[in-house]
Amino acid sequence: MQHTTQLQRYKFTERTSNLHEEIVAIEPAMEEELLFEVHWLLTRRCSYSCSYCPPHRHDNRSPQADELTLIRGLNRLDGILTDRIFRINLIGGEPTIHPAFLSFIYQTTILSSIKAVRVVTNLSSPEGVWSGLRKIAATKPGHIQVVASFHWEQADPQSFIGRIGSLLESGIQVLMKLMIGVSNLDLLRKLTSDLSILTHSYTHFSVAIQRIRNLGVDPDLGLEILGQTYFKNISHWYDRRIIIVSSRNGLRYESLEDIDSLISNGKNSFTGWICDAGLNAFFIDTNGSVFSAGCKPESTPLFNLFNEDSIPPKLQPVKCPHPICECASTIRIPKRRAKEIRCKDESSNINLDNDAQQR
Ligand code: SF4
Ligand code: SF4
Repeated sequence: MQHTTQLQRYKFTERTSNLHEEIVAIEPAMEEELLFEVHWLLTRRCSYSCSYCPPHRHDNRSPQADELTLIRGLNRLDGILTDRIFRINLIGGEPTIHPAFLSFIYQTTILSSIKAVRVVTNLSSPEGVWSGLRKIAATKPGHIQVVASFHWEQADPQSFIGRIGSLLESGIQVLMKLMIGVSNLDLLRKLTSDLSILTHSYTHFSVAIQRIRNLGVDPDLGLEILGQTYFKNISHWYDRRIIIVSSRNGLRYESLEDIDSLISNGKNSFTGWICDAGLNAFFIDTNGSVFSAGCKPESTPLFNLFNEDSIPPKLQPVKCPHPICECASTIRIPKRRAKEIRCKDESSNINLDNDAQQR
């Protein structure tokens, strides 16, 4: 696999117990070049109303920018990030129900500094949206990726799987998130045979299990049951792994860990750490307000993308103000304890087990 080469740069300890030691830094374990990630909240409106989704995340009366404003903003962003290669992650609500969705996607194919656009969707929009997306994707292969979230309360499994198949068939990479609760095992068990077929048929398809925390059940129990029982044969996103730098008895260790195990162990708290969210990412709200990341580490926006008079400040790391770093996309952002000076080339600072294999 492509990312293996990159991981061979590291020499890892075999231990998995370093989660019990002091973690001093998080680094990405991805093969891909580290892109500047733009998380763009296109709309808070949504075609679904999932019971576990807070009302402010799916508000069908919330304001949203019109097409002209969005396209102008996109072009301005291209000018602001002129020396960066970036990926846009279109999020919601449900971004595909915004009337300007396809125009926006098309515009991203024209601007050269945009490496890719990821659409985070529940796949519920009508076929016209998807055929339009497939047409645009055909003009620039590899540019469009879809993160398809399966919300069991409202999604129809057969049409969901069918839609994924049609996207895969047209060459669009699909990353599927199963939003699960332990009470849904029967449904999910049925899904696994279809998912197995897809993962064996398409190399550009993978699956991740997403915990839902406010269901009144232990989400880790569900994850464990699903992971061990039903999903052995389904490929997983490779980028749910990170490099953990830990410290024990004054020595430093690196190991490769799954982001989910970090969350399960309650080690996803980085309050006061220095976080590269301010260097490598933007979060753009529906009104054009720009923050360093979706966690909004600043109390006021950095600038407003839709206001030409609002000037972006110099990019710099942020000091994490939050008790918990919630999701995989924010956990994998490089970060370190304030006292840490992290330099991958200073191998003398790091105690490595030379016999260790990558995991
Ligand atoms: S599909 Fe996503 S945004 Fe819409 S209600 Fe469900 S969780 Fe919320
Ligand atoms: S919550 Fe935000 S600021 Fe804090 S570590 Fe995570 S991404 Fe960085």
